[in-house]
Amino acid sequence: MDFANTYAELPAILFKTASPTDVESPKFVAVNHALAKDIGISVTWLKSPEALQALAGNEPLPNTPSIAMAYAGHQFGHWVPSLGDGRAILAGEIVGPDGIRRDLHLKGAGRTPYSRNGDGRATLGAMLREYIVSEAMHALDIPTTRSLAVVATGENIMREGLFPGAVLTRVAKSHVRVGTFQYLSSRKEVSALCDLADYEMARNFADAPKGDERYLWLLSQIIARQASLIAKWMCVGFIHGVMNTDNMSICGETIDYGPCAFMDTFNPQKVFSSIDQNGRYAWDKQPVIALWNLTRLAEAMLPLLHQDRDTAISLAEEKLKNFMPAFADHFESGIAHKFGILNPLESDADFIAKALQHMADMKADFTLFFSGLTQQIENQEAVTPDGWTKLWHARLAEDKADQATRIEMMRKVNPLYIPRNHRIEQAIQAANAGDFEPFNRLVNVLTKPFETQPENRDLASAPTAIE
Ligand code: AMP
Ligand code: MG
Repeated sequence: MDFANTYAELPAILFKTASPTDVESPKFVAVNHALAKDIGISVTWLKSPEALQALAGNEPLPNTPSIAMAYAGHQFGHWVPSLGDGRAILAGEIVGPDGIRRDLHLKGAGRTPYSRNGDGRATLGAMLREYIVSEAMHALDIPTTRSLAVVATGENIMREGLFPGAVLTRVAKSHVRVGTFQYLSSRKEVSALCDLADYEMARNFADAPKGDERYLWLLSQIIARQASLIAKWMCVGFIHGVMNTDNMSICGETIDYGPCAFMDTFNPQKVFSSIDQNGRYAWDKQPVIALWNLTRLAEAMLPLLHQDRDTAISLAEEKLKNFMPAFADHFESGIAHKFGILNPLESDADFIAKALQHMADMKADFTLFFSGLTQQIENQEAVTPDGWTKLWHARLAEDKADQATRIEMMRKVNPLYIPRNHRIEQAIQAANAGDFEPFNRLVNVLTKPFETQPENRDLASAPTAIE
């Protein structure tokens, strides 16, 4: 296997050389063989003692310099000029059989030059959580960073008490963030900004034009990808929780699973982060915040768009204007499909608003509500036609489609299994006590979220008062 680190060839301002700190007694607690195959990592290597030492951060990947990436960011709206990988190290990259280059990022690998007062470590619980949720997102067909492995370090770390530590190997098509562009632009590093944009384009944006117009094209592509991504999140009831500009990936993958969650009871204003007291990152605010973040990106890219600042601003504004309509298109057609509408119409916006209001009024479980609709259609269940059901049936009657096609589509877009918080918490509690069975079971079930799995019905249900 050929590991490399092409990011380390970029201008030096973008990173600092950093090595992981050794850990006492590393042990694999999760290994993703399916992902390894997809990205060009040999399963034999992954099972070897060398792999364990490498993914624990005790040994470097062969012939590969490791680095910590620099970035800045707006956190909850406040500008932080210097963030960077404080507890993660880019150990190297690998090109998969699909020709795609991916980063291997060791999260929780010890202090780096960007650690400030942090210990550079991560808890086993938080890393298992990221593993579960990122792999579930992938199975739901949502672009995301992936999880290759979790290594328990054998060391305890101090949080609200002592907790077991772990290192997650995060796999991403790139770790370049909105905050990476902001880092350079705030330091007036225009030449490095061009290099960064060209690097990211070469890696993740095929068909980029060759001339100066390529940067405006890149901006429009990033906007389009985010519009699609946020709509996909919202269609499964996902709340990112910390949509700071340093947690928004340029290539359009979901990144940085912190206090994120899938909603149980539908409440459009639901937030998950305890530090998000103003509801900045609530489920229904996500498109507005994504656009806010993209506007910060566009500002950072202005010097690349045109020499004349006013012209650059109007060019950027024109592209930013496309975000909301693109998001609305994706979201409305995504939700319409969940209701079984094969051919969504523009006029469905009104139906969708009423339907979501109905779900909120009923305090419906977001996932079970939609999988219940699939079931009703499958079984041709006679339901008591309340006001909303009548509306739904009337809309379906207008949508010309045969029953089998409708059912097939609904099954594909209405998952039965999502990573529910109470189940993740149970898996983490058990793992902290040395039992990984609930974690393994949960991950396994979530890799087939659209399949009926009668023996795992308990993992589909909403939390109850008793649990
Ligand atoms: P996050 O909230 O994970 O997106 O992190 C925000 C910033 O804080 C990033 O620059 C992280 O690298 C840094 N950070 C978070 N936790 C730690 C830690 N335990 N040690 C050092 N830096 C950290
Ligand atoms: Mg982050």
